[in-house]
Order: sequence, then structure tokens, then C-alpha cells
Amino acid sequence: MSHDHHHDNELDPFAARVRALETILTRKGLIDPAAIDVIVDTYETKVGPRNGARVVAKAWADPAFADWLRSDATAAIGSLGYSGRQGEHMQAVFNTKDTHNLVVCTLCSCYPWSVLGLPPVWYKAPAYRSRAVIDPRGVLEEFGLALPATMKIRVWDSTAELRYLVVPMRPAGTEGWSEERLADLVSRDAMIGTGLAKEPEQAGQPA
Ligand code: FE
Repeated sequence: MSHDHHHDNELDPFAARVRALETILTRKGLIDPAAIDVIVDTYETKVGPRNGARVVAKAWADPAFADWLRSDATAAIGSLGYSGRQGEHMQAVFNTKDTHNLVVCTLCSCYPWSVLGLPPVWYKAPAYRSRAVIDPRGVLEEFGLALPATMKIRVWDSTAELRYLVVPMRPAGTEGWSEERLADLVSRDAMIGTGLAKEPEQAGQPA
């Protein structure tokens, strides 16, 4: 699979223009940078990943949807109204009791925008991109996630054509929960693989 950087090359000049505009508007007193930070944070951590959390919660609650997500994630996710901005395909990778999945883009910053919104800064950082492949266990430990030595870690390298969504394990003690309640347990990091789903008693706490 070729790794097309077209999308990435577009991002930098665009980001530079946004920065320039922000600077001018701030200098003229037309915008408040703190207010912009709040908006960006909302898209980074709330609005975006909520889509993916709904996908995961539905897969937990509905075995037929889980099967569909496993066999054709692009269509299953599209059925909920979340589709790729650049025509990329989605693949869902399911954590099991034996295997943990971790997503990276080693060459740039390909990321499933349609389900996770804006990528976190660390996802685009060279340190994460290189070390996630060389030493995934060590990287996960830095995220506070110490997996048992017997747990296999699979690393998935995203491309412009194919983006991955990690489906974390459903926490115990959530039997009978509504999809809405379940979705509250699914953080952005759990869907990248740098975290796990929250336990029921952590519901409502920040990721
Ligand atoms: Fe990329």
C-alpha cells in the first residue's frame, strides 16, 4: 500500500495560514485566543471522539453491528453518519484478552478524523511515530498503561487510504447498560490504543 502524503502536505500551509490569521485578529482585538483554545479543545477531546465512542458502544451492545464493523468498518461506521473526509477506508481492530492493538502513522499523521476528530499533538510527534513501532510496550507504559507480559501488542500503521479504529474490551460490570452510558466509558486514547476503556466507577471522569 502506498503512503500518499498529499493530505499531509496540505495541512502545514493551511495551519500556517490559520496561525497568521489568528495572530492578526488577536492583535486587532477581534478574537480572544483563550476562547479559540476552548473551541479547539472541544473538537479535540469532546465532539470528535464522541463519534468513535458511539461506534464502540454500539459494537459492544449489538453483536450484529460488531460483526459488520469487523467485516466492513467503512460501511458500518458510515451507517451512523460518520464518513471519511478524504475517502479513506476504515478498519476496526478489536482488543481481546490476549491481544492489544495500537495505532500509529509512522510516516506522518494519518488519523481517523471522521470518528476521532483532531489528532492529539503527541500522535503527530516523531517520538511517538518511531517508538510506537520499536517499543510499543514502553510507549504504553509512558501512557500509564502497563500490560501483562503475556499480552501481545499489534501495531497498525495508518495510511492515507486506510485508517484504524481500536475497539477496546468492554469493561466488566456494564451488562445491560445503554449505548449512551457505554459510550461515556470510551476515551479517545482507548480508540488509538494508548489507553483502555474506563471502568464503570470511572464513568463521568475525564479520560
Ligand atoms: Fe500519515
